[in-house]
Amino acid sequence: MSLKRKPVIVVSRCLGFGVCRWNGAVLESPLVAALQNEVDFIPVCPECEIGLGCPRPPIRLVRKDLGISLIQPETGIDLTSRMVDFSQRFLCSLSHVDGFLLKRKSPSCGLADIPIYAAPAADSYLDKTGTGLFARAAGELFPKTPKIDEAYAAESFLKLLL
Ligand code: SF4
Repeated sequence: MSLKRKPVIVVSRCLGFGVCRWNGAVLESPLVAALQNEVDFIPVCPECEIGLGCPRPPIRLVRKDLGISLIQPETGIDLTSRMVDFSQRFLCSLSHVDGFLLKRKSPSCGLADIPIYAAPAADSYLDKTGTGLFARAAGELFPKTPKIDEAYAAESFLKLLL
């Protein structure tokens, strides 16, 4: 490629950079493998960064009053402010970022279609219109910066970065 420097990409750490998923599972991402010589990755796991262990009880988005909260049903802990504070702090600390590659289906990293529940212990979700809280902060602070999930095609992502 003809760029003078490699694009800087913030990436969900569970996509091949570390064991940090709630269930301790290790993921391999063909997209990360395809991009690894083309970009410089900044891996981050927002849930680990706010102090959640690995493995850990799962967390979910819950509608509260007029807003959306991030709740760990097993413990009842509301993680919303911790996640919002970390996301703001981390994202504002970046001197330069060209794109985001974020894990799908995560209440923290997911860019879209995340289930929203009416209550922490609800058996089924209300709808799937949510955005992960870290991804939402990325959208607010970097509105024009390309953001994809791991299902995207590497070539298409690189074109977005040009
Ligand atoms: S989706 Fe995000 S918060 Fe969840 S394990 Fe991966 S990097 Fe961590």
